[in-house]
Amino acid sequence: MKALKYMGPGKLEIQEEQMPVPREQEVLLRLRACGICGSDVHGYLGLTGRRIAPMTMGHEFAAEVVKPGAGATKFKEGDRVIVQPIHFCGTCENCKRGLTNMCLNKRFFGVLTVNGAMAEYAAVPEKLLYKLPDNTDYEIGALAEPYAVAYGAVKKAGNLEGQNVLIIGAGAIGLCILQIVKLQNPGRIIVSDLSDTRLAAARAFGADEVINPKDEDYMEAVSRYTDGRMIDTSIEAVGVQAAANQSIKCLKIGGQAIWVGMSQKEMEINMQDIVCSARRVIGSFNYTHEEFGEVVDLIGSGRLNAAKLITKTISLEEVKDAMDDLHMNPDDYIKVMIDPSIKRGKRK
Ligand SMILES: [Zn+2]
Ligand SMILES: [Zn+2]
Repeated sequence: MKALKYMGPGKLEIQEEQMPVPREQEVLLRLRACGICGSDVHGYLGLTGRRIAPMTMGHEFAAEVVKPGAGATKFKEGDRVIVQPIHFCGTCENCKRGLTNMCLNKRFFGVLTVNGAMAEYAAVPEKLLYKLPDNTDYEIGALAEPYAVAYGAVKKAGNLEGQNVLIIGAGAIGLCILQIVKLQNPGRIIVSDLSDTRLAAARAFGADEVINPKDEDYMEAVSRYTDGRMIDTSIEAVGVQAAANQSIKCLKIGGQAIWVGMSQKEMEINMQDIVCSARRVIGSFNYTHEEFGEVVDLIGSGRLNAAKLITKTISLEEVKDAMDDLHMNPDDYIKVMIDPSIKRGKRK
């Protein structure tokens, strides 16, 4: 089978590989859609150390069942599935608390040394599979992963009905957050970003107001758009110092900031902004296996504007060029999908 191998910074090659053989409790999958994540682009460039060559990237994916392995009984040939990509043990102390995303023995498909879905086939434990809802395309199914990252963050905020919400960052995750927040009937939703292109996308996905900190005073704009009441819940989806501080300063007394962005490891935060205003800062990392299932249901309900997130669909052969372009012109894309079953330039 064909696999797109990461061979070191800036190097991606199509290679012929042995077909994976499903082990006990695993299922052999023919991969039908795989999203390119920002973390894949950073990994490809060698910036994060989160992709260790040689390996196959790809953690946002949907597929067709080819063959269940021994002891795998829940799915049969031809079934359409979405994969929750964090393989958890189910027995460690974090798994026992339901925090499968924090499993002490976890293996994340398409991350570090674990081969993922930028290939024609993969073998995956049956327990990680969810049925792709009927009338839902594989590409939409592959979006369950970024939606789940967003969902995990929004869920930590609790009930948002009537609340003013500020979303910082209008990349793919920020736009997923925006859609999930909107389902809760909040008060005002404000989105901020340094790119006017991404802010236009946020408007198209239903942001009430947008702020570009390059063009206007941040706190003054937040105050104006909330009639001086400021923000109940902010969600930070960038992960740099300026954005992290904005996520706290914009809050009303006792408000909460959810941090899901993560880029800059260490930064300066004004502690008084948290302590002296009795605000809360809450971290959110990925999603539990259960939350992923809730997102699959949400996608099946058709209440999300998922198709609009996909900028284009490409073959495995086109991924390297796409990664370079995603790096050089990030504003031109929301989500690029790979269909490993198509050839360069050919569409079904
Ligand atoms: Zn990702
Ligand atoms: Zn575990």
